[in-house]
Amino acid sequence: MATSATYTRRRPELDPLHQILSEHLATFLDQAEHEGSGLPGYVKKELWGYLDCGILCKGAVRVHCQDCDHSLVVALSCKGRGICPSCGGRRMNDTAAHLVDRVLPDDVSVRQWVLSLPHRYRFLIAKDVQLLQKVVGIFVRVVFALLCSLAKQAGIPDGKPGAVLALQRFGDGLIFNTHMHGIFLQGVYHRPVADQAPVFVALPAPTQEQVARVAQKIKKKVERLLRKKGRLDAQGAQEEAAQEQSLWDKLCAASIQGRIATGPKQGWRVQRLGGQAVLLPPGERYLCADADGFNVHAHTSVGAGHKEERERLCRYILRPALCGQRLSLLASGDVLFQLKRTWSDGTKYLVFTPLELIEKLAVLVPPPGRHLVTYHGVLSSAAVWRKQIIPGAQQKSQGEDPQSVKAEARDPEAAGIQPELGTAVPRRTPWAQLMSRTFGLDVLCCPKCGGRMKIVAVVLDPVEIARLCENLGEPAQAPPIKPSRYQVQTGWDFAGGPGEFPDAPAPAEFVDPP
Ligand SMILES: [Zn+2]
Ligand SMILES: [Zn+2]
Repeated sequence: MATSATYTRRRPELDPLHQILSEHLATFLDQAEHEGSGLPGYVKKELWGYLDCGILCKGAVRVHCQDCDHSLVVALSCKGRGICPSCGGRRMNDTAAHLVDRVLPDDVSVRQWVLSLPHRYRFLIAKDVQLLQKVVGIFVRVVFALLCSLAKQAGIPDGKPGAVLALQRFGDGLIFNTHMHGIFLQGVYHRPVADQAPVFVALPAPTQEQVARVAQKIKKKVERLLRKKGRLDAQGAQEEAAQEQSLWDKLCAASIQGRIATGPKQGWRVQRLGGQAVLLPPGERYLCADADGFNVHAHTSVGAGHKEERERLCRYILRPALCGQRLSLLASGDVLFQLKRTWSDGTKYLVFTPLELIEKLAVLVPPPGRHLVTYHGVLSSAAVWRKQIIPGAQQKSQGEDPQSVKAEARDPEAAGIQPELGTAVPRRTPWAQLMSRTFGLDVLCCPKCGGRMKIVAVVLDPVEIARLCENLGEPAQAPPIKPSRYQVQTGWDFAGGPGEFPDAPAPAEFVDPP
């Protein structure tokens, strides 16, 4: 069977992001060391790791077709969780497939609930992991309470709701904005007959008043929590942080405010480009409510049985912070970032110097070990009914092969695809399968004969890699990384000061965004 499209190695070194980081990362980190206490280790690791991602001479996997003896080489990836568009995209597809295939019950309608927090609490809550978890808990409980009361009205006093929650660390415009997207089952499970499987009862969509009440309740509960912890007065915390705390706090606080934290434009607002202010279409406001900055949004739902649409929604809530196509380099050396959608003031693009862009990206790297996706109610791992309602539950309960999990932990760009490594249902969807599911590409389909290819080796030895690159006509050296050009400055010879914006580049300087 021949397929129309086959895998070709992506060329990350040609991406604007790669060019920016290879040229300016060393300078940025040097600046961070000199002007503050540097960046957390995991952030540096992620930024450097990105530069090796998909670069063949940094390591590869060899796949082979037994039918026609054809071989193919696939570069290793960085597995970054914050800024790598490629790995972020893969994780998004991977987790979305997992949610649809193995977590969200089939034939059940779902609704997305989104909670964003007031500016004044964002820094405070994002910085404190326990506080953040508590806020997540409040959000879930308040929506659950609404669903349970709707169920009661429908004559079901003991209904059990369920949800999957994704924490996002960013807002549009590379802004640090920790907020929550939940996919809630639009109904509850209950067990009408003892010893029989639980049954799902669909519930009507919430009304505008109910959504407004959810926002009000969340505000009340979160503020009560902050008061109890003595943090309610910390409204000025962001500003204080920007003044007094570590460089890392400054970067986070400035990002929340849409300002620049380092370099000659310190304190300035990020430069915006765009047109006329626009009015948001009224449809967007439906089932949205705001309680003093606690913004709740519940207008997106997917009916039962719409699996593709559901997977699209899952991908949306899991999308990575940065899509590489939004960045382009200007002739001036600055970077143009295209917004996903036009802001209400008409802004379509943001302009950063390379160092400013790196500053914004660094903040988006999540701390290691924090779960970005959590399961609640009947979908939580502890729920008694979970096994009876999630798809594929029976196979899963036979247990995972530890070998397959271990193999995945090493994860070359292609790991997890060796069928011989694990016979149990893999926790993650094999990469080749994902590629075909998402892009209509089958990476393990032999481009010569259409047969199935297998991973035969992981190549990490420098001598072997050099030979491999030579055979393939690929460069044996990684793209050069510029050393730091940071010089200790005593003052910046910039005209103007905070509040005064440099002129927007003339239209002639634009490279058309793709
Ligand atoms: Zn073949
Ligand atoms: Zn990567």
